[in-house]
Amino acid sequence: MDLESLLKQQEFGLGELVFLLKTKNEGRTELFEQSQKVKNETVGNKVYFRGLVEFSNVCSKDCLYCGIRKSNSNVVRYNASDEEILESCRFAWENRYGSVVLQSGELSSPAFIKRVDNLLKEIKKLSDDELGITLSCGEQSKETYLKWRESGAHRYLLRIESSNRDLYYKIHPKNVTHSFEKRLVALQLLKETGYQVGTGVMVGLPFQTYEDLANDLLFFKELDIDMCGMGPYIEHEDTPLYQFKDKLMSKQERFDLTLNMIAVLRLLMPDINIASATALQAIDPAGREKALAIGTNVIMPNLTPCVYRKEYQLYEGKPCLDEDAELCRNCLEARIDLVGNEIGYGEWGDSKHYLNRTKKA
Ligand code: SAM
Ligand code: SF4
Repeated sequence: MDLESLLKQQEFGLGELVFLLKTKNEGRTELFEQSQKVKNETVGNKVYFRGLVEFSNVCSKDCLYCGIRKSNSNVVRYNASDEEILESCRFAWENRYGSVVLQSGELSSPAFIKRVDNLLKEIKKLSDDELGITLSCGEQSKETYLKWRESGAHRYLLRIESSNRDLYYKIHPKNVTHSFEKRLVALQLLKETGYQVGTGVMVGLPFQTYEDLANDLLFFKELDIDMCGMGPYIEHEDTPLYQFKDKLMSKQERFDLTLNMIAVLRLLMPDINIASATALQAIDPAGREKALAIGTNVIMPNLTPCVYRKEYQLYEGKPCLDEDAELCRNCLEARIDLVGNEIGYGEWGDSKHYLNRTKKA
């Protein structure tokens, strides 16, 4: 295949995507130059902040890769208080972050639904309606998505984790609570209820092939997503998937492949928002900024109250455990500047793709 002409295309077949994902050395440099160019021409060189508040690690699910899965009894479960959560959001607003992400384990009790609903209203109130709000609280009913949408959330992150059903069931228990079909329905419901929809996958999972990843990219295109977050899979010793740790690519290879996924996705869907996942930073301290340089345009500084951070260990080596939010912001600013990007302070930084697709509709 001729890389130079391939890089000029806007549509790609499975074989072409696999070829691009496998690029190394000079080919990879060319891929990155092109993805950077496409990024600058479509979404520009602005980076948008989403202050990440991991407000609870209580989860009803048992995903086989996740350190806070229900069956991991080594985790001390927490629920940050409303005051603590709102304090983090106030910090985001006062520091002109533009948006926050509220993330948690997955619960669907009436009390949880009501609590999130109330938090959304309070965040809007404390910020004079200025803070944008993304939710990442798992699969919910249409009614719940609608309620939260009406109370102020306008973006939602729900990773498909893998679009290959067989692989999905290798990394999740095969039961109704972890149904692949239910996840597909949830993504559809998010679109129907008017969210900017974000999904993504983990890269470098055991049993995952290049074809799986290429199909994930085609899945994103088919679903016509607005946002994407992809990070390397990182093992956690208290999870069932840890037994396959010797079958994994090296962490560096998983990191490199994640960057290739990001670059290729930028070519395939030029106007979507792509986030620099925190897991990149767990492998390379400058990982999120390296991703910014080649295609991402969103970063999620961690605003989780420090006392809880060690209990939100999704994988080994999760960074930022004892930095306070202020420190994180200062070091981030300098590093973002280094890769020639500018921070969109006080802006929502909505997905251009969403704006384009809703304009057309
Ligand atoms: N419970 C919600 C959900 O699953 O959508 C939100 C929180 S969940 C912890 C957020 C994301 O963390 C998941 O979508 C998953 O991709 C990622 N994650 C969990 N365990 C991971 C691991 N071991 N390595 C990398 N990412 C992981
Ligand atoms: Fe729970 Fe989300 Fe972790 Fe699955 S990935 S166990 S739903 S927190």
